[in-house]
Amino acid sequence: MGITKDIITELERIVGSNNIITDDVELTVYEADGSFVYTAKPDVVVFPRSTEEVAKVVRVAWENRIPIIGRGSGTSLSGGALPIEGGIVISLTRMNRVLELDVENETATVEAGVINLWVSDALAKLNYQYPIDLGYYFPADPGSQRVSTIGGNISHNAGGVKCFKYGVTVNNVRGLKVVLPNGEVRFFGGKVVENPGYDVIGIMSGSEGTMAIVTEAVLRIVSNYESVKTILAAFNSVEDAGTAVSRIISSGIRPVALEFMDKIAVNAIEAGPWGGGLPTDAEAILLIDVEGSEPGTNAEASRIIEILKSSGAYMVKLAKDRAEANRWWNARKQAFGAMGFVGPNYITGDGTIPRKKLPEALHRIREIGNKYGFRIANVFHAGDGNLHPLILYDERRPGERERALQAEDEILRMCVEIGGTITGEHGVGYYKKHLIGLLYTDYELNVMKNIKSVFDPLGIMNPGKIFPR
Ligand SMILES: Cc1cc2nc3c(=O)[nH]c(=O)nc-3n(C[C@H](O)[C@H](O)[C@H](O)COP(=O)(O)OP(=O)(O)OC[C@H]3O[C@@H](n4cnc5c(N)ncnc54)[C@H](O)[C@@H]3O)c2cc1C
Repeated sequence: MGITKDIITELERIVGSNNIITDDVELTVYEADGSFVYTAKPDVVVFPRSTEEVAKVVRVAWENRIPIIGRGSGTSLSGGALPIEGGIVISLTRMNRVLELDVENETATVEAGVINLWVSDALAKLNYQYPIDLGYYFPADPGSQRVSTIGGNISHNAGGVKCFKYGVTVNNVRGLKVVLPNGEVRFFGGKVVENPGYDVIGIMSGSEGTMAIVTEAVLRIVSNYESVKTILAAFNSVEDAGTAVSRIISSGIRPVALEFMDKIAVNAIEAGPWGGGLPTDAEAILLIDVEGSEPGTNAEASRIIEILKSSGAYMVKLAKDRAEANRWWNARKQAFGAMGFVGPNYITGDGTIPRKKLPEALHRIREIGNKYGFRIANVFHAGDGNLHPLILYDERRPGERERALQAEDEILRMCVEIGGTITGEHGVGYYKKHLIGLLYTDYELNVMKNIKSVFDPLGIMNPGKIFPR
């Protein structure tokens, strides 16, 4: 059934006339996500302010068999938040309160529309509601942490620079309040570390909005460390940098973050106002954080510096203070946006490979770039083997977008061929569902579809995502 005038009136009654968009021009804002590769317009967007309002909206959709698409900030890079079959977009952005900071239990309870960085800001007294620095932060920190929401992070099981040590989003979620597709409100998990029985939070995290709408989450928070050391290393070859990554990890040291950027990426960053003084002549750089006690970080940093030098780094620098380290990290976190300085358009790839295969993968990405005639920048979470090849192309040239997508496809197939996967953190979404069969047998895909149908028997939750039809 389509969306009738009566349904719109009912939705307006639930959320109020200031919290609904039906105007065709205004709906354009919601037809894309962060990738801008495809567009699909919703019929209506609602902005509920409470779980109860979400439940009532969802109930209307259930009764009328209308697709429901949860949406946070729309920074998804896989077409995840696109309403492929139209329907109701439920934007969680007005459910943006930090509800509780519980240091004794090391948890923060937040609404789904809270921006990722706001959790750490609240813990560090940067948020007006909490005037005391509690000495804690939320460790799952995607590059988009200044804009993406906790609900979006959970739904895509986002990764980030500190995930090498602390795990991805799912490892930092203890409880979830969700609205099921029939409008029932359920809570899974709690404040305890482990729950017996099936891991429902694990199943819902990364389910890309295909099972339920997340409205609240209980997050794990971790304490600040006494000492953090940041190391910057520059290499004349990407392969040497890749080898250094493997050698650091196999040495038994676990840095909290281990990031890679190649020459194109560094030059794009340094061309912008957020340049961090990164070496623009290097073919590749690594940015590494270790944290712990002062003697511990001193020893680990010295060992890492030795490994970097013996792996061919021509420059290794220990940040002289936090201000310098923050400049480097800030520069890293601007990398995607900085691509605008070196090309009119780009596609953000996202694949994962076994870390040992880093040098081979980087070599093959360059070959694929040459084959298609595109420059490809590389910025990625090297510690997790999570690659982000950024394929630079020009939308104005006929056929370039299609060829750029083909190049991305080939890179992802290469990742699978060498033992990796088609996504590390950006989700399967709409763009990559044709590749999921490379990873799973029909039996495995059916197991997943059966799990989805337990929650979503009518198939109204974010249809057209993850699974090929
Ligand atoms: C510059 C940039 C840097 C990025 N860096 C990273 C990175 O380092 N790591 C990483 O993992 N990702 C990264 N991303 C991708 C993106 O930011 C993440 O996928 C993020 O988790 C999406 O959050 P969002 O609030 O924007 O969600 P949206 O894009 O709005 O939605 C993402 C998905 O979640 C669903 N969804 C959203 N909210 C809910 C909810 N409350 N309930 C149910 N379903 C919901 C949507 O339907 C969609 O499928 C980056 C993106 C950009 C543009």
